[in-house]
Amino acid sequence: MSKHYEVVIIGTGPAGLTAAIYSSRANRKTIVLEGPEPGGQLTATTEVENFPGFDNGVQGPEMMDIFRRQAQRFNAETVYEIATKVDFSQRPFQVWTDGPNHYTADAVIVATGARAKKLNIPSEEEYYGYGISGCATCDGFFYRGKNVMVVGGGDTAMEDALYLANLASSVTIIHRRQEFRASKIMVDRAKQHPKISFILDSTIDEFVGESKMGIKSLTGVKIKNIATGEITEHKIDGVFLAIGHTPNTDIFKGILDTDEVGYLTTRGKSTFTNIPGVFACGDVQDPIYRQAVTAAGSGCAASIDADRWMNEHS
Ligand code: NDP
Repeated sequence: MSKHYEVVIIGTGPAGLTAAIYSSRANRKTIVLEGPEPGGQLTATTEVENFPGFDNGVQGPEMMDIFRRQAQRFNAETVYEIATKVDFSQRPFQVWTDGPNHYTADAVIVATGARAKKLNIPSEEEYYGYGISGCATCDGFFYRGKNVMVVGGGDTAMEDALYLANLASSVTIIHRRQEFRASKIMVDRAKQHPKISFILDSTIDEFVGESKMGIKSLTGVKIKNIATGEITEHKIDGVFLAIGHTPNTDIFKGILDTDEVGYLTTRGKSTFTNIPGVFACGDVQDPIYRQAVTAAGSGCAASIDADRWMNEHS
């Protein structure tokens, strides 16, 4: 069945749901297509302590439930469907999903997010969120006084290691080569930091953990030296993956402009994409900050941009 909405939001998470709160409060008929990971990356984290307004912290999935209920309170609809194809070549815009419906829209807000790249090795899924993290700024605080590892040799790895060194008692950067992709100044800063050490030519072969009273936690890693093949086990409290992010932009390829990595590009300080009436917010257009609060802020901006654009083009 084909259904028409003034605003179709593709993707959940703080960006998409904040856009839904603003669009529905502006009395725009709004639907959110939740996508393959309803609630987005925060549903894979545990406690969120840095989102203003939650003075005692909040569990990531619970926070996304609150956002969703807040949007629904103003009559935004949310459906567990994955957008599979879009046609933005004419208005109304069209969106197809894996569900029974086809949607047409006056404006589309893309908030499909990004995903931290994973190593795809045994036990990674089991301990992700329980000692393995893809975001040092989000989870570093939980590792005060502990021993952590950062995987990667790019600028994010160096930046994460330096950030974590202010909190943890030791930080080990593990990188699969001798040479770094990161800028020299960042590598030098990390090398000069007394709490940071390096394991090079090496990769994590396996995550090791335990379960106490039903609560899982990472306790160590098995590391493989690529040159010698030798595997050694190291005790560690937390591992931060800094091996890059992948923006979720596959269905927009050839339709919306992206940078060389695949992040959607927006115009100036706005959320306008190259197609008038299609807006982008959150991590799908943000390779730099990637925080829940910045995503929510850009979701608000996208909704305001969409509302004003519809007023001018109705
Ligand atoms: P990058 O792609 O630059 O680096 C990813 C790193 O992870 C590389 O060292 C890569 O190794 C390693 N890696 C990738 N896959 C694996 C794997 N499966 N196993 C082990 N290691 C792996 O990503 P970043 O997130 O670091 O940076 C993205 C962009 O953002 C860059 O342009 C960067 O300069 C920029 N940035 C800038 C900052 C700043 O200026 N302050 C801060 C953070 C990011 P290898 O090198 O062998 O390929």
